[in-house]
Amino acid sequence: MAAMMQPQIILLKEGTDTSQGKAQLVSNINACTAVADVVRSTLGPRGMDKLIHDDKGTVTISNDGATIMKLLDIVHPAAKILVDIAKSQDSEVGDGTTTVVLLAAEFLREAKPFIEDGVHPQNLIRSFRNASYKAIQKVKELAKSIEGQSLEEKKRLLSKCAATTLSSKLIGGEKEFFASMVVDAVGAIGDGDRLNMIGIKKVPGGTMRDSFLVNGVAFKKTFSYAGFEQQPKKFLNPKILLLNIELELKSEKENAEIRLSDPSQYQSIVDAEWNIIYDKLDKCVQSGAKVVLSRLAIGDLATQYFADRDIFCAGRVAEEDLLRVAAATGGTVQTSVNNVVDEVLGTCEHFEERQVGNERFNIFSGCPSGRTATIVLRGGADQFIEEAERSLHDAIMIVRRATKNSTVVAGGGAIDMEISKYLRQESRAIAGKSQFFINSYAKALEVIPRQLCDNAGFDATDVLNKLRQKHALPTGEGAPYGVDINTGGIADSFANFVWEPAVVKINAINAATEAACLILSVDETVKNPKRSGIRERRAR
Ligand code: ADP
Ligand code: MG
Repeated sequence: MAAMMQPQIILLKEGTDTSQGKAQLVSNINACTAVADVVRSTLGPRGMDKLIHDDKGTVTISNDGATIMKLLDIVHPAAKILVDIAKSQDSEVGDGTTTVVLLAAEFLREAKPFIEDGVHPQNLIRSFRNASYKAIQKVKELAKSIEGQSLEEKKRLLSKCAATTLSSKLIGGEKEFFASMVVDAVGAIGDGDRLNMIGIKKVPGGTMRDSFLVNGVAFKKTFSYAGFEQQPKKFLNPKILLLNIELELKSEKENAEIRLSDPSQYQSIVDAEWNIIYDKLDKCVQSGAKVVLSRLAIGDLATQYFADRDIFCAGRVAEEDLLRVAAATGGTVQTSVNNVVDEVLGTCEHFEERQVGNERFNIFSGCPSGRTATIVLRGGADQFIEEAERSLHDAIMIVRRATKNSTVVAGGGAIDMEISKYLRQESRAIAGKSQFFINSYAKALEVIPRQLCDNAGFDATDVLNKLRQKHALPTGEGAPYGVDINTGGIADSFANFVWEPAVVKINAINAATEAACLILSVDETVKNPKRSGIRERRAR
């Protein structure tokens, strides 16, 4: 009897929830597949969009994998990893976010039957890593460089890359228009990590085609005081003074106390205050500046004073806009008006305050140091412009990446089919179980062309068979063939300029494999009871 009463070993706190082993692994895989199923239908130029609304009534319409994943608020711990890789793909390369989620889930789906049959996850992980290494080598090999072309030619090629990114978005109908705009904007800021130098301003109303690029800075007219109407709104080559001070009569602070023994002294205090501000304004005028911007308020008095002297002013300019003006015009933001020398003033070829839709915009163009660009986006609904901004962001990132690395691969599933074929070939030389694992990895890569077909309503089996046949040609001439989104057949993606920067694919394969391996290596999840519970127990 005593032998049966073994003492119970208590390892974890009461209320801890654990699940482990094969069942746990399979359930994690299922969760990831479920997440991928959500974004699956958004892939490619014929992909659909998702409308997501939260309890606050905010509505977002998006086609961007990372945006959707972020908004979904996923709670499953394993599936959260997919959200993270989508986010990291977004910040690393800016595009390919849906691709990376689909690939990771497909790797897992292929791994599932093996796991169920009792294969040790470590064997799968090793083979998957190996396959991904080989795949990336192959992408690098297949990538074509656009280096060494003339500037015009390079611009043309870059806008092809941007157009491919944009083709899957809401603004895909105007992809050429926006692609060349994006290429110009990226060209304007030059190299270096100065992405914040491209401003995107959204003005509801008008059509997409009314969007325009300012080779410089543009921002919405700030709050203005009386006297503003009399200021000139247009200058050629003005000097620009940038300030971080208030040009306003200050009201007394609370509890300020001044004791006067003689009523006549009161006037002297008022005068002193007026003198201070007039002195400041005089100094601004003396500097020769024709445009005065300040991050802080420019009040009634100052506005009228400047108007009388044919000077344009704007107060409460947002800090990022002010910094962009500074960078573009070569000026420096001043914190005092004493000693405003010529060097701290900026200039530009053309300044104008102009009506855009219902808004008035201050536009500085033809800036000497270039290095900034502003895209003014027009369009119908708010959600539409928001999504357009996100799409342009993708395109901007892609053009920047392509400018830096300047190698591209054929899109439309062509590169995925080619790597898949290559891995299958390679796997034949491998003895043992690993052959199967690499084979299934290769098969998983076909998810991209298959999904492109599904989303366009084509017969995926048919198209994939044609693609496999083409890619199997021993001469290698079939390598650039991918899904033809217009006819439902196959076509040479490279010749049709469906290009993607190689770095997008490399990063996607890498991240997806890592995520899949990470999820495969987890065989137990432990859920700790709520923190408050711990405190309760301690308190007792
Ligand atoms: P992601 O978030 O992964 O970038 P997208 O919805 O942008 O997802 O779709 C990208 C996929 O669509 C890529 O595989 C790309 O090659 C493909 N694609 C883009 N434009 C075309 C096109 N005109 N024809 C065929 N495939 C295209
Ligand atoms: Mg994309």
